Amino acid sequence: MVAPHCASPVNAPVIGVLALQGDVREHLRALADCGASARPVRRPSELDAVDGIVLPGGESTTIAKLAAAFDLLEPLRAAVRGGLPAYGSCAGMILLADRIVDAPAGQQTIGGIDMTVRRNAFGRQVDSFEGDLDFPALGEQPVHAVFIRAPWVEGAGPGVEALARIPVGEAAGRIVAVRQGALLATAFHPEMTGDPRVHELFVRIVKEATSA
Ligand code: GLN
Repeated sequence: MVAPHCASPVNAPVIGVLALQGDVREHLRALADCGASARPVRRPSELDAVDGIVLPGGESTTIAKLAAAFDLLEPLRAAVRGGLPAYGSCAGMILLADRIVDAPAGQQTIGGIDMTVRRNAFGRQVDSFEGDLDFPALGEQPVHAVFIRAPWVEGAGPGVEALARIPVGEAAGRIVAVRQGALLATAFHPEMTGDPRVHELFVRIVKEATSA
């Protein structure tokens, strides 16, 4: 079923979800609801066949280790460097960061976004929380964001657009959504709330990239 306001299924872009660990199914469903042809990616040949890739939430250390073990880490780096659109949610945001802090020594990333991301940035006390965020690129209505042991963006280069920030509290002003060209990342999990707008934005990015 196509959810309201979602992209049309005509010329559906093929979007993969890195399916090594994490909430793969939720992203596949959210993408399909937005009219994309969504499929899991576990091997390099499957990566070659997609127009865009989603890096799901989960555990970034585990996903990075499995990606290396499945011979996917270098192909993912090369694909992102070569312009493959990618959207990372939570652990996926960490994977798209050029630099990470508070990570175990040697934790690898795919990289691509000129940003420094702090893992588990909100600390133990607020392990998980929800709240409404202004996200002007998605329209006037705020996004209800679910954060689970989430990272934040501690610093970003001039080519990175901050799309949303924490509005109140100790972390007020921290960046939690970014875009750099065809790369998109959120510290929260839109695949869990039924709001299609972040996935829709990514589907649009993929369509723009494939028609360019
Ligand atoms: N804390 C996790 C990590 O570092 C991310 C949590 C999530 O994806 N919900 O990978």
